Amino acid sequence: MAVVRSHRFAGPADLHLHSNHSDGTESPREVVRQAQAHGVRTLALTDHDRTTGWDAAGEEAVSRGLTFLPGMELSAKHEWRSVHVLGYLFDPAHPGLVAETQRIRGDRIGRAERIVRNIGRDYDLHWDDVLAQTTPDATVGRPHIADALVARGIVRDRTEAFDGILHPREGYYEPHYAPDPLTAVRLITDAGGVAIIAHPVTSGRDRMMPIPFIERLIAEGLGGFEIDHRENTESGKRTLRRIAADHDLIVTGSSDYHGSGKPNLPGENTTDERMVARLIERATGSEPRYP
Ligand code: AMP
Ligand code: ZN
Ligand code: FE
Ligand code: FE
Repeated sequence: MAVVRSHRFAGPADLHLHSNHSDGTESPREVVRQAQAHGVRTLALTDHDRTTGWDAAGEEAVSRGLTFLPGMELSAKHEWRSVHVLGYLFDPAHPGLVAETQRIRGDRIGRAERIVRNIGRDYDLHWDDVLAQTTPDATVGRPHIADALVARGIVRDRTEAFDGILHPREGYYEPHYAPDPLTAVRLITDAGGVAIIAHPVTSGRDRMMPIPFIERLIAEGLGGFEIDHRENTESGKRTLRRIAADHDLIVTGSSDYHGSGKPNLPGENTTDERMVARLIERATGSEPRYP
């Protein structure tokens, strides 16, 4: 196994950031500039269900002396829970993974149209309003509908939209297709990547996948958990740290930056250098980009 020279990624590492190739508000290059401005030295771009931002972000990072890890946040679903699986350093041309992300992105569009139709019964909102908020590259999601609601003057910002109209309890929500987490972990691992469950404990125990199911994911090749994330509960973090230690898993910490779409700032949570090294050592699907 290649010796990983850890000085190549010394300094704060933030392994979960979004650009406008999914539902962040900034281009991949701007995300890199923002990360650097906030003191981040190693970063991963993890757009939802797509990898098209890698080249621009990688180039920008390397030209600025930063280390770049290619990544993605794959949408999955366990029963009624939305589960996000971060994949790092996988082969972006893996046919199974490519097919699955195409299917998810395609279904997300029809689903967004259904949500907009539901909202349109009570508010002056149309599909064109949402299209006006997306770039051709975007993985369409509720954040774009939120931006359309803001543009229409119906809500003030994304947060107000998510707390209100876009919340499932309001009745406009529609689900989208997403694979089972076992499939998601298997695909990322098959593609030579490392699978890390994103923000696994966001709102109390009932939102967390049952521990026996998490153990099945570990048996399937799960690499670890994103523990330091602003939405994980403190008790959930303790539980995850224990499971991670028992199974010698990787633990990460990240911002989940979405540009001006969320309050999260680059570098607000970071990943230990030794954990970055383990990610790189374990992955075989693609290479980090070093300055
Ligand atoms: P979707 O995948 O289309 O259901 O939308 C969920 C996405 O919206 C996630 O990527 C979140 O990061 C983002 N999101 C969730 N809550 C908020 C919020 N309060 N403000 C902005 N974005 C949010
Ligand atoms: Zn997002
Ligand atoms: Fe997420
Ligand atoms: Fe995210």
